[in-house]
Amino acid sequence: MFKSVRARLTFWYAGVLTCTLLLLSLVIYWIVRRSIMARTDAGLVELADSFLSTLNAELSDATPANDVAGAARQSMLEHQYPGRSFAVLAADGRVLAASEGLPAATRETRHNEPNPIISSEALEACAAPLLTGDKSFVTLPGPRGGTRCYVTAFTAARTPGRLVILASRHPESELLAHLRVALGWLVPVTIILASAGGYFLARRNLAPVADMTARAGRIGESTLHDRLAVQNPADELGRLATTFNRLLDRLDLAFERQRRFIADASHELRTPLAILQGESEVALSNPTRTPEEYRESLSVLQHEARRLARIVEDMFTLSRADAGQYPVNRRELYLDELVSDCAHSVRTLAAAKSITLSVESNGELPIFGDESLLSRMLLNLLDNAIKYTPAGGKITVSTGSTPAGTQITVADNGPGIPAEFHTRIFERFFRSDQARTRPISSDGPDRAPAGGAGLGLSIARWIAEAHHGTLALTRSDVRGTLFTVTLPVEPLTSTSSD
Ligand code: ADP
Repeated sequence: MFKSVRARLTFWYAGVLTCTLLLLSLVIYWIVRRSIMARTDAGLVELADSFLSTLNAELSDATPANDVAGAARQSMLEHQYPGRSFAVLAADGRVLAASEGLPAATRETRHNEPNPIISSEALEACAAPLLTGDKSFVTLPGPRGGTRCYVTAFTAARTPGRLVILASRHPESELLAHLRVALGWLVPVTIILASAGGYFLARRNLAPVADMTARAGRIGESTLHDRLAVQNPADELGRLATTFNRLLDRLDLAFERQRRFIADASHELRTPLAILQGESEVALSNPTRTPEEYRESLSVLQHEARRLARIVEDMFTLSRADAGQYPVNRRELYLDELVSDCAHSVRTLAAAKSITLSVESNGELPIFGDESLLSRMLLNLLDNAIKYTPAGGKITVSTGSTPAGTQITVADNGPGIPAEFHTRIFERFFRSDQARTRPISSDGPDRAPAGGAGLGLSIARWIAEAHHGTLALTRSDVRGTLFTVTLPVEPLTSTSSD
């Protein structure tokens, strides 16, 4: 029904206010009514006491002493109040005296209130409840608020009787009517004013939302650097805008990373594709080539095709890792065995460059991990060490337990990584200039590690992190490079697939 938040807020505000004011009015009306009634009743009791003490005084003076009716009339003459009528009844219900027909009141009165009529029905209705007690109040319905009736039993000059006082309720009902009118105006006027104020306030306070909506609507892929205006960072809308801006920061960063990844990837793929194209064109252009020349061309083509396949495979791994879709199948395995297996598989490669590869193992190291991923991480580190260590160098892989967890270190005595690249080597597609200019054929056509695309360390770091561990460049200078993998020690009882 109400589409806008401000209309809904105003509606709820007005609804709650209406209920509260209605309840408050009812309570006020009820309290005022009760206290007015209580005051009237207390006045009637006081009047009856005064009347009866006058009656007793009159009786003691009266001649003959037992003329109750005469004394009552005298007492009535002394108690003439506007809106009050008296009747004195004998024990059998006979009316001994009634204030009707007495001379008019001589007192000064503020209200010119007509006295209630003392009818036999009124007296009967008033006196009936007295059968169960010696005093009672009854309200007789009628116009102008009806009549309040007070009856009390008395004994005067050894004669039992009843005093009935009838009080017009007109002043009280008039007061209550005024109160009803006042509340009847006050409640709706307050609701209307408060609702208008509420609507205005809601509109004012929600104005930034409209601005934010318009700005957010304008932000697109090409304007991701735009931000929402934060008017008051401490209030709810300010916090919403700040959170939205942080989300945009993250999106902007992710888009930027994605753009760079695509640009770098196409750049990396272009080189082997160009070589494939060029080499095949050269091979086909000369029909008089010898089989050796064809073999050489095919070897180059195979090498580049492998390189391409490896780059595509690495990119696919990273994109699946980013999406959280790469399966990590962890099971119990011995890290020392895995390290010696990996070292064994690259031994020939190291031997081809006369590099000494040694493994230092410090006992059994049972861990939970994905064997193929951990092997891939270690092979990437070993491949790099072999690639960047000059012939005749030395590579040492060692394993051990430290307070931080299970550690693998890969150390070489190569030229090291220039200090300015230390923070960048884990970035995707990052390669030092030295690595870029490295000749393709340095590893021979059968292996493809040389001239990598700069994804090896990114993948290795992701694998360490997928095992809740870390991969860090601990040291790299003229003495060589040292990479450290630290894997947390986890209980071996669980088998998991992250
Ligand atoms: P690449 O495919 O180029 O080897 P990596 O991500 O594995 O990509 O490595 C990134 C860069 O880090 C390399 O280009 C190289 O400059 C540097 N690097 C890695 N390992 C070593 C190492 N053991 N010695 C010297 N430089 C290294």
